[in-house]
Amino acid sequence: MGLETEFDIPVLTTTVEKMVKWARRSAIWPVTFGLACCAIEMMSMSCSRYDIARFGAEVFRGTPRQSDLMIVAGRLSRKMAPTLRRIYDQMPEPKWVISMGACASIGGVFDNYALVQGVDQIVPVDVYVPGCPPRPEALIYGIVQLQRKIDRMPL
Ligand code: SF4
Repeated sequence: MGLETEFDIPVLTTTVEKMVKWARRSAIWPVTFGLACCAIEMMSMSCSRYDIARFGAEVFRGTPRQSDLMIVAGRLSRKMAPTLRRIYDQMPEPKWVISMGACASIGGVFDNYALVQGVDQIVPVDVYVPGCPPRPEALIYGIVQLQRKIDRMPL
C-alpha cells in the first residue's frame, strides 16, 4: 500500500528465491530424445492440439547444453544406455528427468537381455508417467508435477 502511494503505480514484491523458481518452472526446455512409440505421444504434446506451450515447456532443443529436461520416451536398449547417460551429463544443472511409459520405467513387456529394465538404473528420475503409451494429457500432468517439484526444491 505504502509503495503504491510512493511510486503511483502497482508494485509487486517477492523474494529472489521465489522469482528464480518461478523462472525455472515456467521455462522448461526438453532435450529432443525419443526412443520408441512413446515419442509419438511426446511430439503430439508439443503440437497445437495439446499445446504444452501453455505451460512454458514447448521449446525442444537439439542440444543437451540448452536443455534442462530429459523425457525418456520409450524403451532403452543396453547399447543406447551409455549415450543416454552421456547426453544427461552434458545437460547443465539444474536438470530433471521424466520417465515416460512402461518401457522406460520398468522395461514394459520387454523383459529381456537387450533392454534396460528401468531408466532409473542409468539416470536419476524425477517423475514417472505410467501408460503404454501415456496419452499427451498424462505427460502434461507429469510436467505439471515436475513444476510443483521445482517449486519445492531449495536453490
Ligand atoms: S510403453 Fe508402450 S508405447 Fe511406450 S515405448 Fe513401450 S511399447 Fe511403446
